[in-house]
Amino acid sequence: MKTVTILGSTGSVGRQVLACIRKHPESFRVAGLSAYKNEDLLREQIEEFSPTHYYNPGGAVEIQSSLFDFLEDKSYTKCLSSLEELASIPADIVVSAVSGIAGLWAAVAVLKRGGTLAIANKETIVCAGRHLKALEKKYGGKMIPLDTEHSAIFACLKGEPQKQVRKMIITASGGALRDVPMEKLSKVTPEEALYHPVWKMGKKITVDSATLFNKGLEVIEAMRLFEVSVDSIEVLMHRESVIHALVEFTDGGCKALMSVPDMALSIENALYYPGHGVDSVAPLDLTKIGALHFAQPDMERYPCLRLALEAARAGEGACIALSAADEVLVDAFLRGKIKFTDIANCLGKVLPKFRDVTNVDLEDILSIDERARKYTYSMIGAR
Ligand code: MG
Repeated sequence: MKTVTILGSTGSVGRQVLACIRKHPESFRVAGLSAYKNEDLLREQIEEFSPTHYYNPGGAVEIQSSLFDFLEDKSYTKCLSSLEELASIPADIVVSAVSGIAGLWAAVAVLKRGGTLAIANKETIVCAGRHLKALEKKYGGKMIPLDTEHSAIFACLKGEPQKQVRKMIITASGGALRDVPMEKLSKVTPEEALYHPVWKMGKKITVDSATLFNKGLEVIEAMRLFEVSVDSIEVLMHRESVIHALVEFTDGGCKALMSVPDMALSIENALYYPGHGVDSVAPLDLTKIGALHFAQPDMERYPCLRLALEAARAGEGACIALSAADEVLVDAFLRGKIKFTDIANCLGKVLPKFRDVTNVDLEDILSIDERARKYTYSMIGAR
């Protein structure tokens, strides 16, 4: 029996993790839960999974007082005062499924106590990955990627010597707007950008998939997690999302991880690590799929990918700044304040300002993030 804390339990990944735990009550018990906004769902989850601790920034007191209505033993679920504190309570695995840089200090807290961190929070890896890897080594903890592509690379690397790895290839479906003519992209509505053809995910990541900024973040994420340079990572367009990633070895051979597109595989592989789950996802029927398609990414259609790769080459400051600016821009797009194409236009103006900021200390990440946000808000004239 493993205990699991989920940071961001009401989001798309968090709910899928709880679905896995619900399926396997003999293997897992929930230690802690946190939600950013969705208090109603958090309350339901607390009722169902009886965690010992929870955290909710918006309405902790309200939740606690309404909990009193249905809890006989009022002491069994305790409200903590920060995500970091929740990450610090003993649990065999902490799943970080929060969105954005908000997950930074919680990730640090898990690794500082030598814990296992199953991490889907890619912005934190992008901004602080080098530091997280150092903490993992120093305190003997473990970081397990939850992002599908990185989970696939992680699986392909099992038992392979790193020096015989030549290339890592991550695939991209192309997102919700992959078939929309380029000249129409400036007129795209949030609803259209949120309709992903393959994956059901949170709003921010779905828009990031439509711009392919998500894939750029994933390249940086792979650089940090697997400690390789940007030149050894490639992006491959692959509409069917059946191959999640490939690793090419020095002998020219490739290993790929294939499955039906369902995050449950990454989640169960992380929860059962170093083992595997049983029936984590439906079996893959290649005869039904028939054909798989591949292409190079079109950098004109996807300028956000090009900018993210430029940031990856430039250094940590540029990566932090673009990630922060993108959080602001996607939010502004979803609120109807800017056009879809403004996301790339603005990111293109943020990048040069931070190009020379390299080797960022852990303590300085949030101030660079803040500067990038301020600059982005000043550009779009909205908060
Ligand atoms: Mg992914």
